[in-house]
Amino acid sequence: MRLSKYFLPVLKETPSDAQIVSHRFMLRAGMIKQSSAGIYSWLPMGFKVLRKLENIVHEEQIRAGHIPMLMPTLQSADLWRESGRYDAYGPEMLRIRDRHERDMLYGPTNEELITDIFRSHVGSYKDLPLTLYHIQWKFRDEVRPRFGVMRGREFFMKDGYNFDLTKEDALHSYNRHMVSYLRTYERMGLQAIPMRADSGPIGGDDTHEFLVLAETGESEVFYDSAITDLKLGDKSVDYSSWDECAAIVKEWTTPYARTDETHDEAVFADVPETRRRQSRGIEVGQIFYFGTKYSDPMGATVQGPDGKPVPVHMGSHGIGVSRLAGAIIEASHDDKGIIWPEGVTPFHVGIVNLKQGDSEADGACESLYNALIAIGLEPLYDDRNERAGGKFATMDLIGLPWRITVGPRGLKNGVVELTSRKTGESEELPPEQAVEKVAKIYASHRVAAFG
Ligand code: ATP
Ligand code: MG
Repeated sequence: MRLSKYFLPVLKETPSDAQIVSHRFMLRAGMIKQSSAGIYSWLPMGFKVLRKLENIVHEEQIRAGHIPMLMPTLQSADLWRESGRYDAYGPEMLRIRDRHERDMLYGPTNEELITDIFRSHVGSYKDLPLTLYHIQWKFRDEVRPRFGVMRGREFFMKDGYNFDLTKEDALHSYNRHMVSYLRTYERMGLQAIPMRADSGPIGGDDTHEFLVLAETGESEVFYDSAITDLKLGDKSVDYSSWDECAAIVKEWTTPYARTDETHDEAVFADVPETRRRQSRGIEVGQIFYFGTKYSDPMGATVQGPDGKPVPVHMGSHGIGVSRLAGAIIEASHDDKGIIWPEGVTPFHVGIVNLKQGDSEADGACESLYNALIAIGLEPLYDDRNERAGGKFATMDLIGLPWRITVGPRGLKNGVVELTSRKTGESEELPPEQAVEKVAKIYASHRVAAFG
């Protein structure tokens, strides 16, 4: 993309109503625009990030054996009356009446809808296990929408639902989700710690929230610092293996890590004092096992091996895809702007032409631009007629991990400059080598476009 042809409405001023850094940078970098309280338009660069996050979630879910689909945003109130949640949900639910006076709602989550699909089409235990998921907009009429996309009213969420014959099978689904979530966050350049959480009205012990440590997080968290040394890396995981998934979950859930809702001072005291940490965190996902809570009242049964109907064991699993855009910025930025991890960056490399109009500099930039595209990368070429200082400030603000700077002086010696946004370190090298180096860096960060 050439910046002169793109739509990147960068703001010079810091917006006064944005309280936290990710919200400020998302507005300043022209990623989002508020349309009403807690509801945002995703401008082109924000949209690119959102799509990348979505694609990583799809890849990891499909890898774990989960099946993508799409359910609507608007739902009939009748289904929610069946589960008893229509009255229980309260004012967070946006209720709508259509022209025929039918009660509808904008879905805050999808347990009822998916259970209805399941009971209409699945009749036998032989069709289990089954995990379906979708990534769709949700609406929750939050009392205090704030912090930009971190607590929106309309937000983009992955929600998945497992259907299993027995509790043991459902626990495997739970473990599979935990492992796939760990991988998902790692690919986004994030450390998200699974913490024992409160299941609220759902009941039972089996729920974990995934938290990204950040001062601005809304949750208070307590953990053993040993957990921050754990990494899944590129270890291959056999998601069909009960034991393998359970072993990974055991490793990640053994060190103490809890939100304030489940925090227990007495148990925490057993953690060696030097490793005890209290901090704040952003919830970027949550997984639940809730047994037959929905299958019982809604009649989601299958015919068991003995021919008798049994209610299925279920769980639900969410990732806050739009919140993640903000959470990543909270975890990765400096005074000048965003520092995108390679896995989610909207463009792979920025090209800065120090002397637009100089035929040699223009020519070198064009060849770099074409060479990067030819190897499947997306460069953002700042080809505007602007001062170098302004171009650098824009690149720093929008936070592309790598920048190639091209100017007549370097070109005389046959070199361009490759700079890391994260470390600020630069190195001079011939243009072809800069392309090769960038190609190598991104070789392990390919995201297949989904669908
Ligand atoms: P919170 O406690 O932050 O209100 P929640 O526990 O009600 O969230 P879940 O039902 O667990 O949310 O939804 C799954 C994920 O969706 C959350 O982990 C979070 O990342 C994201 N999410 C929930 N509410 C919002 C919101 N208002 N804006 C953006 N993302 C949200
Ligand atoms: Mg939650």
